[in-house]
Amino acid sequence: MPMRTQFLKTLLVFFASFFLNVSYAQTKADAEKIEKMKSKALQIVESKAKNIQEMVDMVFSFGELGFQEIETSKYLTDILEKNGFTIERNISGIPTAWMAKWGNGSPVIALGSDIDCIPKASQMPGTAYKSPIVDGAPGHGEGHNSGQSVIIFAAIAAKQIMEENKIPGTLVIWPGVAEELLASKAWYVRDGYFKNIDACIFTHVSSDFTSDYGDNGGNGILSVQFEFSGEAAHAAGAPWRGKSALDAVELMNVGWNYKREHLKPTQRSHYVIKDGGDQPNVVPSVASVWYFFRERTYDDIYKNYQAGIRIANGAAMMTDTKVTSKILGTAWPGHFNKPLAQAMYKNIQKVGMPKWTDDDEQLAIAVQKLLEAPEKDMIGNPIKGMNKRIDTIEGSVPFSWGGGSDDIADISWNLPTIVLRYPANIKGTKGHHWGDAIAMATPIAHKGSLAGAKATALTLVDIFTNPKIVADAKEYFVNVQTKDTKYKPFISASDTAPIYLNKETMDKFRDKMKPFYYQPEKYGTYLEQLGIHYPTLEKK
Ligand SMILES: [Zn+2]
Repeated sequence: MPMRTQFLKTLLVFFASFFLNVSYAQTKADAEKIEKMKSKALQIVESKAKNIQEMVDMVFSFGELGFQEIETSKYLTDILEKNGFTIERNISGIPTAWMAKWGNGSPVIALGSDIDCIPKASQMPGTAYKSPIVDGAPGHGEGHNSGQSVIIFAAIAAKQIMEENKIPGTLVIWPGVAEELLASKAWYVRDGYFKNIDACIFTHVSSDFTSDYGDNGGNGILSVQFEFSGEAAHAAGAPWRGKSALDAVELMNVGWNYKREHLKPTQRSHYVIKDGGDQPNVVPSVASVWYFFRERTYDDIYKNYQAGIRIANGAAMMTDTKVTSKILGTAWPGHFNKPLAQAMYKNIQKVGMPKWTDDDEQLAIAVQKLLEAPEKDMIGNPIKGMNKRIDTIEGSVPFSWGGGSDDIADISWNLPTIVLRYPANIKGTKGHHWGDAIAMATPIAHKGSLAGAKATALTLVDIFTNPKIVADAKEYFVNVQTKDTKYKPFISASDTAPIYLNKETMDKFRDKMKPFYYQPEKYGTYLEQLGIHYPTLEKK
């Protein structure tokens, strides 16, 4: 080898090792810097513990049903505005929906959580027996009052870190309006609100602290109302001149219940009669029935929906009535992003389960007894007292018998999305029930939401400082999740969100609920305002 070449080679090796060392040193310095930012983020969230408690309690006290989240929306957007977010209101023609934005450039990270509650679930918090705040009124019998505090205070922490360190990026905060009706997220997607967003972190109340990925084993859904119209007549004087719309509803239900035998065991379907007529001596000229068709795949949901339409047409034919149908809600089956979930899970482990006190434990045991909770959950974990263990992170279920639905899936099939499940409720409750509201304005919900906010804030710092996370998330989304399955919306351009739903119920109860709205300027906690000793285990 000539001397010159040898020399050049040595020089090359020298420079290569020099640059490698420098880049290693930079990486190490970066890692230290990021760790510092993360401890700072934890400190900021911790300093907001009081604000989180107030927000959880406030939204609990509003107790608003889907599409009627007027006070909730106003309260949350006011806080976001005060913290420097610009708000676009009334998105997708939904008055209680919004998109709040802060920052510049990419990545654009969306944070979402539901805000609506459950009919007839009004309940005194911290009280382990049925005791409605307002009899018959709606209440947070699932715990959607807690999720916005998780994302808002995580975003506020991330924003401060980004400002201090001049890190580019955009934060977007949005609400799951009318999640209990599965009736907003597919509309946001259809109207392009998630088009320029790189990734989405969604948070949902749970008794677990985890962020799973892949197929979550849940069902997708189509929510459809069938309206029959016939002819009124005197039900005794001239019944032969009437055409009963109620008969059609009943025949449709009988037809569907026979059909069940020939559906896959993974389906779930249920209905309520929304209008069964006015009084017995008038042949009902109008009647309606509201169906949920749930299945594991788009194709099976669509098939069952078509069967429902045929059965409705058959019922109309038998009764000489006419039938129309309208889609009121929809959700795809859930599938969530692996790299994002893994990033979140590391932070969940770092944050750890909240420290539950004896009081929390006693309330949990009393609620489990009250609701006759099973001794073990579906995978064999014991249900006794507060959950103290962080589950392992799980991927796609190998098989599922089906289950509930969440329209976050319509977002998750359009961009990399995860669901953080944070531990703010008691294990073993029924899901949609006043018993699920008991813990939701107590230290259990406050500490669980705080832990969720910490894990979310840490994950935001990771995402904004490490572009590889979003790149990997996109790679998974394109090459794994949507490789063979492409999103097809159930709604068309002409389907409007049914924003009239729940209006009558809210109008009936709102004035009675107002005197019980939380007043944080007067009371440390909502429990204090209601004069509840925590925990109250038995009726005196
Ligand atoms: Zn929910």
